[in-house]
Amino acid sequence: MEGMQEEPAPMPEPERNGSHPGEPGWVPRNPIEAILDVLRRGERFLVCSHSRPDGDAVGSMLAMAMLLTQMGKHVDLVAADRVPNIYRGLPGAGDICFAMTVYGPYDAVILLECDGLERTKLRGLEKYYLINIDHHSTGRNYGHLNWIDRQAASVGELVHRLVKASGGKVTPEMASCLYVTVLTDTGGFCYGGTRASTFALAEELVSAGADPIRIAQEIYFSTSASKLLLLGAALSTLRREGRLAWLWVTHHDMVRTCAAEEDCEGIVNYAVSIDGVEGAVFLRELPEGRIRASMRSKGRVDVSSIAARLGGGGHENASGVTLDGPLPLALEKILAALRRAVAELTGPATNVVPCDPRG
Ligand code: 5GP
Ligand code: MN
Repeated sequence: MEGMQEEPAPMPEPERNGSHPGEPGWVPRNPIEAILDVLRRGERFLVCSHSRPDGDAVGSMLAMAMLLTQMGKHVDLVAADRVPNIYRGLPGAGDICFAMTVYGPYDAVILLECDGLERTKLRGLEKYYLINIDHHSTGRNYGHLNWIDRQAASVGELVHRLVKASGGKVTPEMASCLYVTVLTDTGGFCYGGTRASTFALAEELVSAGADPIRIAQEIYFSTSASKLLLLGAALSTLRREGRLAWLWVTHHDMVRTCAAEEDCEGIVNYAVSIDGVEGAVFLRELPEGRIRASMRSKGRVDVSSIAARLGGGGHENASGVTLDGPLPLALEKILAALRRAVAELTGPATNVVPCDPRG
C-alpha cells in the first residue's frame, strides 16, 4: 500500500562522524520517536534481518512489516536464506523474499537483529539510509540511526515498543509473530535476560491473541525425522571436559541424514544442558569446508566475547562464528578460548569430571 502524504520530506543525508541526526552512527536520545519520525516521513521501506533467520529475525521482520502497513507504507521483506519450516506458518511469512542483492527506491532500510551489515549477507544495502535495531551484546552503531537495547529479550520486544508508541494496533497476527520472538530468543523463557518484564510482555501478547500452545507445538513439536537422525550423529561425538562440553557434525553427517541447515538449531543445547557444564559448543562442517560454531553458556561464561574475538558475535549466553576448517583445528581454537574462560571461574564446580567420561 502506498503512503498518504503529499510530499515526503527528504531523508537526512549521511555524513561523517555521528552524534546527531543525519550523521552515520547517530544514537538518538529518544530512539523510538526518531525511528517513528523516519517511518512517518518515508513511503517505501525495506525490512531485513540476518542470514539463516531465526525466530526473532522472522517474527520481528513480520511484525515490523505489519506496523508499516498499518501506517500506510509500502514495505518489502528480504532475507538471504529461506525461512525455516517451523516459522513458515507465521502470518505473512510467505511475503519474505529470498534475495542476494537489494534494489529499489527505498526511503530507509530497517535492519533487525544484525550486529553488522555483513550479517545480512545482502549486497547493495550501503546506499540506503539504514535504521539499525538490535539487542546483541556485540551490537554496533553501523546504521545512520541506531537503537541497541541489550536488555531486550528479543528485537521483537523493541518492535512491540515501536508499535505501542506509534499508536498502532497489536493485532492477533502481530502478537503471534512477537510472541515467537520472545519465546525463541529466551530459549523458552530459560536464558539469562528472562525477567519479569519478559513475562509481562508474553502475557500482553497472549491477551492480544497469540496462542502460546499452538505456537509451542509448531516450534517445539514439529521436528523432522532428519533432525533427530542428525542429533543422533551429533550426540555420538559428545565430549565433556570439566565445565566444557562439545559435539559436532560433519558435512557427510548432514548429507546422509538428509538434514537441512535449520536442523542444527538447538543441538548445542544438549551439550550445555549437562549438569556442571558452564559452556558448550556445537560445530558443523559446511559444504565448502569452513566450520560454523554455535556456543552456549549457562551464564557464567561470556560466549559473545569469545565469538567476537574470533570474528563472530551474539549474546553472553548464545553466540556464533564461522571459522576456517578443518574441523579439529576449529574445535581446538574454540576450546582454547573456552578453556581460558572457564579457568577464570571461581568456586567449586558441581559434578565436574576430570576427563571425558566415555574414556
Ligand atoms: P546460533 O548459535 O543460534 O547460530 O547463534 C546464537 C547467537 O549468536 C544469535 O544471537 C546470533 O545472531 C549470533 N550469531 C551467530 N553467528 C554469528 C556470526 O557469525 N556473527 C555474529 N556477529 N553473530 C552471530
Ligand atoms: Mn534476537
